[in-house]
Amino acid sequence: MSDDRCSADVIVIGAGLSGLVATTLLLEQGRSVVLLEAGAGPGGRIRSLHDAATGDVLGDLGPSWVWPPYQPVVVQWLQRLGLHTFAQFETGNAALDYGPSAQVQFQPLPGQHGIARIAGGPVALVDALVAMLPDGVLHTGLPVTAVLVDETGVVVEASGYTFCAEQVVVATPLRVAESSINWSPALPDALAHAMRATPTWMSVHAKALIVYPTAFWRENGLSGRIASQAGPLVEAHDISAENADPAALFGFVGWPHDMRAANKDRLDAEIIAQLVRCFGELAARPTQIHVEDWAANRFICTPGDLAEPISHPDVGPDILRQPHANGRIVFAVAETSDVSPGLIEGALAAGMRAAQQVLGSRV
Ligand SMILES: Cc1cc2nc3c(=O)[nH]c(=O)nc-3n(C[C@H](O)[C@H](O)[C@H](O)COP(=O)(O)OP(=O)(O)OC[C@H]3O[C@@H](n4cnc5c(N)ncnc54)[C@H](O)[C@@H]3O)c2cc1C
Repeated sequence: MSDDRCSADVIVIGAGLSGLVATTLLLEQGRSVVLLEAGAGPGGRIRSLHDAATGDVLGDLGPSWVWPPYQPVVVQWLQRLGLHTFAQFETGNAALDYGPSAQVQFQPLPGQHGIARIAGGPVALVDALVAMLPDGVLHTGLPVTAVLVDETGVVVEASGYTFCAEQVVVATPLRVAESSINWSPALPDALAHAMRATPTWMSVHAKALIVYPTAFWRENGLSGRIASQAGPLVEAHDISAENADPAALFGFVGWPHDMRAANKDRLDAEIIAQLVRCFGELAARPTQIHVEDWAANRFICTPGDLAEPISHPDVGPDILRQPHANGRIVFAVAETSDVSPGLIEGALAAGMRAAQQVLGSRV
């Protein structure tokens, strides 16, 4: 898989959207790249549930939405990859849920302007980018544990393998990179501080996907949306495919991570009870229910993320967008973006900026 001399011009750590974009652009410009991913597959926070028999996408377990009128980078990449969007289904009444002992109220709720879904889900972006990679670029199941930088280049260690290159693009969540990779020499204090201070957007959340034979709620004049003060889903939405096949709902679980971890066996039943309360008895018969707990993924979420209140991502300090170690280290994860940090738009933009920095540097 590697030799102990030079493996490539550039090593990219993390095969989420930002790492895939950086890799694609570097390969296009003739650079050789090794892309190292800790998880079993590419995509990072972009993940879908697939039908075990057909492989078809049943729904999203990570992001679902883009906002094309406000996200030119998303539009650019959708066009480039031959993908299109469709409107988030919002027709009909939403359910306002106050808990098992109160009557559910039904009324329309305004949707967000410009909110849209990618046909095939955001995983279609990942699949399209991975399909363009030449064999031998992407290596999965290889968590990087050490990065050593000197005046001759970069050496990266991952699961007993050693890779070496001229430069490294770090496309992992910043807190993960700071806390789980051994940096030699140590990262400058100001950089390490900025990395520790940057929450990873949505990393502490759990998303429930509930798949049904039909979008029965639509036939009853309901949008599939829930706003709840009771939970376990604090909000839910219709996440059916463009043609409503497959039909599905998703919701964000309001229970905190430790409560989710301690009550895994009753969470599914409580979600279904809530959906029955809001949408009637047909909600009791899903074909599948899956809860993706991102807080349990150590390559995405750190104790630092779990220890603080959730906040919307801000544009981080410039130090996160600057090359380090004379241009040998560049950061690419979505949270480093100065547009839509933490979002799909931010991941695309940060991957593009990182590739430009590598191409523009003279190491
Ligand atoms: C539940 C949820 C809902 C979301 N909803 C939306 C939405 O609706 N719209 C939107 O725009 N955004 C949304 N987001 C955010 C969006 O998913 C992210 O902005 C985007 O996927 C980030 O991509 P990335 O490549 O920058 O980082 P990541 O996807 O975090 O990729 C980082 C990669 O690095 C890998 N890695 C970590 N450590 C190592 C290591 N040591 N060695 C090698 N690899 C490593 C990880 O396994 C991962 O694959 C949501 C996220 C979640 C979790």
